[in-house]
Amino acid sequence: MAKALPMSLLQFQKEFSTEEHCANYLAHKRWKNGFVCSKCKHDTYYYIQTRQLYECQACHYQTSVTAGTLLHKTKLPLTTWFWAFYLVAHDKRGKPALSLSQILGLNYRTAQRMMRKIRAAMADREDQYKLSGTVDMDDAYFGAPRKGKDGRGTDKAKAVIALSKDKKNRPQYLRIQVIKSVSSEEIKRVAHKLVEPGSLIVSDGHSSYKPLAKEGFQHEPKVYYKEDEEKFLKSLHTVISNIKAFIQGTFHGLGAKYIQSYFDEFCFRFNRRFDPNQIFDRLLNVCEWTGPHPQP
Ligand SMILES: [Zn+2]
Repeated sequence: MAKALPMSLLQFQKEFSTEEHCANYLAHKRWKNGFVCSKCKHDTYYYIQTRQLYECQACHYQTSVTAGTLLHKTKLPLTTWFWAFYLVAHDKRGKPALSLSQILGLNYRTAQRMMRKIRAAMADREDQYKLSGTVDMDDAYFGAPRKGKDGRGTDKAKAVIALSKDKKNRPQYLRIQVIKSVSSEEIKRVAHKLVEPGSLIVSDGHSSYKPLAKEGFQHEPKVYYKEDEEKFLKSLHTVISNIKAFIQGTFHGLGAKYIQSYFDEFCFRFNRRFDPNQIFDRLLNVCEWTGPHPQP
């Protein structure tokens, strides 16, 4: 059952052409070692084909492959969801709701809700891990200033970008967190959220990063000299430029409220960049593993 995914469009179409095919795939993810009743732990069931429900043979509790997952109580066909996952997985720039709605023939609001769920699931997944080892950290502004304003860019979002490095100083994992301001309180909060204690955080000399040394982190502030600018936090700044390009392509002037979810999507992809062919399957794993979004 566990196949090397993903596949060409044609293969995908064949593999997941019916509700049953999709449900079987999810069932395999949910019950890797065979069905287990969530109420009584009994392991045999009846399958009620007409309603796509699994009924425990011992206690008669009925469940579905989507109950309690990201797709909890969805009214959309599983085939539509699988298409959305496929499209999201295969588009390097992210699939804004508009193109999902066009490609899948969905109402725009429906497509928007699907994208929000998918991004929330990605965020849940990324929140499972903290960065460790050497972590480059910096803050940046994202998004376009609101039109017609006095040019102060009140809609720009501020965020901390943290990138862990391997022993050869190559980028490993990325996390991004929106902050209210570049204050030491916010930097401390975000560092605790994103980075394992004891890790070495490398930042510029900004005073808001100074308290990190007293917060259980090693801290290496680098003073910014013009001639060092190229070298200093180089890969971090390359990543920041890529995020800005991604945000510009997908984040058409929405408020800062939603920008965190775009960051989560960017990180989910970035952290799986060496295995892009697995993103579709990973998304389905996350979909089964995470709870409903929004939370009931
Ligand atoms: Zn049972």
